[in-house]
Amino acid sequence: MVDLRSDTATRPTPQMRAAMAAAEVGDEQRFEDPQVNALCEQVAEMLGHEAAVFLPSGTMCNAISFRLHLDRPGSEVILHRTSHPVLYEGGQPAAYSAGMVCPLDSDDGTFTGDDVRAAVHDPGNRYAPRSKLVSVEQTTNEPGGRIWPLERVDDVLAAARDSGLRTHLDGARLLNAVVATGVPADRWASGFDTAWLDFSKGLGAPMGACLAGSRDVIDEAWRVKQMTGGALRQAGIVAAGALHALERHVDRLADDHARATTLAEGLAQLPGITIDPATVETNIVRFDVADPPAFCAELREHGVLMAPLNATTVRAVTHLDVDDDGIDTALVATSRIAGP
Ligand SMILES: *Cc1c(COP(=O)(O)O)cnc(C)c1O
Repeated sequence: MVDLRSDTATRPTPQMRAAMAAAEVGDEQRFEDPQVNALCEQVAEMLGHEAAVFLPSGTMCNAISFRLHLDRPGSEVILHRTSHPVLYEGGQPAAYSAGMVCPLDSDDGTFTGDDVRAAVHDPGNRYAPRSKLVSVEQTTNEPGGRIWPLERVDDVLAAARDSGLRTHLDGARLLNAVVATGVPADRWASGFDTAWLDFSKGLGAPMGACLAGSRDVIDEAWRVKQMTGGALRQAGIVAAGALHALERHVDRLADDHARATTLAEGLAQLPGITIDPATVETNIVRFDVADPPAFCAELREHGVLMAPLNATTVRAVTHLDVDDDGIDTALVATSRIAGP
């Protein structure tokens, strides 16, 4: 099976498993795990922040950050309507932070400083929620791996600063943006109050994410990590996988991007498929067909897995476990079943 449903489909490589098996470990919550300590130091430095904390998942990075920033019930976070916390986190802003979401709209998942200024409520207006936080997703997941332009990130950060808002960077796929643009991770992330990386997406580790921020913010994040059962023991086993991924699996994200472009260009030739290959900027390919569930079910019979995203759109994501042959297989299978 060529599994293009998500870049979470990767399994640890033999080399990664060897690094994990050999890892020296200790009690993470006593700061005695050497792998976790090294990982947190490395990610803090990469993202241009003072400190970082290892967490089981990216969802927990978002949930803990929102909890810290939305510090009073009824506080509001400004973010895109397709962002992960809005669509895929079980209502976490409401459930964990008693927060409101202020969802902004656009095709590519980005927004501008003016959009933020227009969304901020007057703090003296007791009828409105308190605007507290802006959250940016780089790259944008649901809109298809689109990259926020650097000027747009700077513009949003400036608007947030002017309006007294905190800022959060959901960097589940930040390193895809880094590899695609050549702009280093700290340039993207250091202007935010909190920022994080996921190791279980394109980086190919089995689990884990690191949330970075100031020393004070990370100390507070530890309180919530403890309270929600995220404090770990010999987590070095998995942190070693993440360290291995940072060393070995970052530059190769460029291969995933090239394969996504090849796939998009091939799909664009087929009847019954609508796609603009120019919108494929990283490793996520979205295209429209008449009946996404039927299309994906037929594709499965030909040994290829893709995911129906909604009533019109199918999603395919390239990753470590899909090589050039996998893309050929996917294109041959799609050409067999594509049609008006
Ligand atoms: C996957 C993802 C998350 C959540 O990360 P998990 O490690 O799966 O919990 C958050 N934000 C974005 C943009 C994602 O793609």
